[in-house]
Amino acid sequence: MAQGQSDWRAWEPGLAEVVKRHPKVSPFVILKTDVQRRGAVLTERARRAIRPEKDSTLYRGINLESNADIPWGFLLRDGTSVLCTIEAEDPDRFERTREPYTIDYVDGKHVLADEGKALEAITWIPTPAYTWKKTRKGTPMWQVLIARPQRMDINLYQTCDFWKDGGMGCRFCVAGATMKATKHDKAEIPDLDDIEDAVREALKQPGRYRSVFLCSGTILTGAEPQDDEVNLYIEMLQRVGKYFTERKVMSQIVATAFTEKQLRRLHDETMLCGYTADLEVLDEELFSWICPGKAKHIGYREWRERLYRAADIFGPGRVSSGVVSGVEMAQPHGFSDEDEALRVYLAEAENLARHGVSISQQIFHVEPGSVFFRQRTATLEYLTAFAEGLDALSRKYGLTCHCDDYLTCGNHPNTDMARAWQGGGR
Ligand code: SF4
Repeated sequence: MAQGQSDWRAWEPGLAEVVKRHPKVSPFVILKTDVQRRGAVLTERARRAIRPEKDSTLYRGINLESNADIPWGFLLRDGTSVLCTIEAEDPDRFERTREPYTIDYVDGKHVLADEGKALEAITWIPTPAYTWKKTRKGTPMWQVLIARPQRMDINLYQTCDFWKDGGMGCRFCVAGATMKATKHDKAEIPDLDDIEDAVREALKQPGRYRSVFLCSGTILTGAEPQDDEVNLYIEMLQRVGKYFTERKVMSQIVATAFTEKQLRRLHDETMLCGYTADLEVLDEELFSWICPGKAKHIGYREWRERLYRAADIFGPGRVSSGVVSGVEMAQPHGFSDEDEALRVYLAEAENLARHGVSISQQIFHVEPGSVFFRQRTATLEYLTAFAEGLDALSRKYGLTCHCDDYLTCGNHPNTDMARAWQGGGR
């Protein structure tokens, strides 16, 4: 192990110190960031106390397949949602450079603990009411629809053409490995009738959903490149749109960067109001190394230009770009100085903000199945400073990105911070 990896607690500020250094950031958001960076291990007694009828455990998506009794996220007591890697206790478990948090079961409650000390009681994501039902074709609904606490998620193309193009997938991504591990019974594109049945059923549960979210791996084919992906989104959005009376419904797609013509079709022909195309990395050279497929087929500058066009079409604050925060420190080509990375990243984030595009910070964590599974994650201090810097930019440019905020998405530390200036307290 390189210097500073095995003894990481000795050389980088811990949770309490980072909370002290960033009084404007909610301690719950900082804790969430750390759990997302390090993951969590479920003790055997905690696992035995899971009740799948109320604690959501079933998940089938691009990056994860879980049909066991292990949840894939939880809530902190202030409502902050934490979507993270949770593993069962296993002595042969893949060793990370920073050991994961522990989730234990103490006095009738699941608790998050670190170094043997309980930090916070947690609650699991509630199992949605449709979970155990079947579509008219007999497919279990949980296999075609995912429910976060705030929204329903539809994963359309459950793999990505970049992985099929000689392993040109993004180096942190596990979509290729997930598809390989599950392809015995998983279609690349789930049956759209099944999805429609599940959405119709989900909408019967009062108060559960604030938005509809669609995501898909890149599809390169079509009359023009990516037309097949655009057509798939349009068909699904039109099917879902039938169940609403409004022309525009709180909805978002996380998709490839589309051309202006493709974006206009999505805007004009569907209920869609939010669009995200993830740059993943805010530096052109690193983008080419970390996301070779995106670089080859579209390129950093063209991707960014398409985001600007999207903001013109959908409106400022309705377009965002995901960044895998911390992956920019991957070696051998990444930054070795976090101060330098912060300066470069916030400058590029401001460039995007000036054009009406927000950043959604996702925390880089290492996972077996990705090319980067041996990389080291960034420090908590760096990730928190980046979240704070992004929040300051959102305030400066008035970018209230509703599709990605704490009420609607709940996955991004920087957009969780919006609750402080939207009247919800720190
Ligand atoms: S675009 Fe990159 S991150 Fe997204 S599914 Fe494809 S390989 Fe994975």
